[in-house]
Amino acid sequence: MAEGLFKEGIVGGRLAPTQYAENFSDLHPALDHHEALVESDRCYFCYDAPCMQACPTSIDIPMFIRQISTGNPIGSAKTIFDQNILGGMCARVCPTETLCEEVCVREVAEGKPVQIGRLQRYATDVAMAQGKQFYQRAEPTGKKIAVVGAGPAGLAAAHRLARHGHEVTILEARPKAGGLNEYGIAAYKSTDDFAQAEVDYVTAIGGITTENGKALGRDYHLADLAASYDAVFLGLGLAGVNALRAEGEDASGVSNAVDFISTLRQSSDLAGLPVGRRVVVIGGGMTAVDAAVQSKLLGAEEVTICYRRGQEHMNASGFEQDLAAANGVVIRHWLQPKQVIADGGKVVAIELEYTAMKGDKLAGTGEIVRLAADQVFKAIGQSFEPAALNGSGVSIAMEGGRIKVDGEGRTSLAKVWAGGDCIAGGDDLTVSAVAQGRDAAESINRALIG
Ligand SMILES: Cc1cc2nc3c(=O)[nH]c(=O)nc-3n(C[C@H](O)[C@H](O)[C@H](O)COP(=O)(O)OP(=O)(O)OC[C@H]3O[C@@H](n4cnc5c(N)ncnc54)[C@H](O)[C@@H]3O)c2cc1C
Ligand code: SF4
Repeated sequence: MAEGLFKEGIVGGRLAPTQYAENFSDLHPALDHHEALVESDRCYFCYDAPCMQACPTSIDIPMFIRQISTGNPIGSAKTIFDQNILGGMCARVCPTETLCEEVCVREVAEGKPVQIGRLQRYATDVAMAQGKQFYQRAEPTGKKIAVVGAGPAGLAAAHRLARHGHEVTILEARPKAGGLNEYGIAAYKSTDDFAQAEVDYVTAIGGITTENGKALGRDYHLADLAASYDAVFLGLGLAGVNALRAEGEDASGVSNAVDFISTLRQSSDLAGLPVGRRVVVIGGGMTAVDAAVQSKLLGAEEVTICYRRGQEHMNASGFEQDLAAANGVVIRHWLQPKQVIADGGKVVAIELEYTAMKGDKLAGTGEIVRLAADQVFKAIGQSFEPAALNGSGVSIAMEGGRIKVDGEGRTSLAKVWAGGDCIAGGDDLTVSAVAQGRDAAESINRALIG
């Protein structure tokens, strides 16, 4: 164990310098050609394949696996990109264990699914490494569309609109495109700057202009866009973070897990990145696991996830929970935060109350436990920030705090569509955002061209 590990407080350099690269290497290393052939051979090429039905983008999985098995990875990549132009990132980040691989007949029969995600990565990597572009723009239609937000939803919408010959302007608040692919996904799931390579691959179709540092609600308003473009697609994601509602949560050392991950993803010097010695993460989803595991990989000595319900209620999949455990993260259940204890303004501990179900309601039991902590991360969910839509002189219908859309992604406003995390009823996954962006683009195309 590195000596630096025992430094008190939130500091950098807890590990030996060489350890960082090893810790943050690819979680699922790419299959080589031979491994891909062997794995593809395991597929039964099922008729009415359940894996395909479980994929939110409906990729023809048996078809792309068959193409790999017949030595045609380029054809396989086209099958994937036809449905999901961000198939490369989805191959890396999809929780396949709860989607296609969960229902794979080989999982059901033997408990060992075909590794669909890794095969998808193999095929898309081969095509992207060759710079193989499969789509040409249709004849220009003369229609102009504004896409707000360059996350998976916005990029998928932009690509599909460009394919139809429309002229797309992506307006993105942050300095880089990619959304959470660039700023949120755990570093070990997307290595070697893949998010930017994918943005370049998607926009290489042409007809897409990206303007960074352009925030809706600050630099321009929705009504302006609706007036100057033929259609608008909103792929704003979730900018808000839920509060802990624990006394003292403003103490130094308490921060949002997504901000920590974003800083980590943009850091070129992981050894310089400060992390606590004892870290507590509050939450039970993918963000909680990602923050916890990455804290551990940065050299935190003790990392504990506290979740207010039982293991079976966690949003993090079984695979992610196992990943946390394998990295030495302790997951404690039935605990809710009550009070952050600070000394000199800095967090030194957190008090949590045990919870239990009382009838069908979750309630505190009154029993308190105190955990020493010099860093606390809030990972209790994100929320849509409607402020960006304000000031436009128009009002858009909302549902459950997010933008209300119909089955095609149309909002209540004429000429305005939306997709991805910012819309109501989604499941907050990269692949679902891609599906919604793509489908809204098709709806826009039908509305503009008929
Ligand atoms: C920490 C974390 C880890 C995750 N890990 C996974 C994972 O492993 N697998 C998975 O499937 N899903 C994961 N998710 C969920 C997944 O990242 C999202 O579902 C997906 O990124 C949603 O895509 P989106 O395009 O809707 O939004 P985003 O990716 O959030 O993109 C929205 C874009 O809009 C921009 N924007 C916001 N407001 C404005 C404005 N006012 N003006 C202009 N631009 C604006 C933002 O800067 C951003 O670029 C994770 C989420 C988080 C937070
Ligand atoms: S369910 Fe499994 S075996 Fe059947 S087609 Fe899909 S990947 Fe192949």
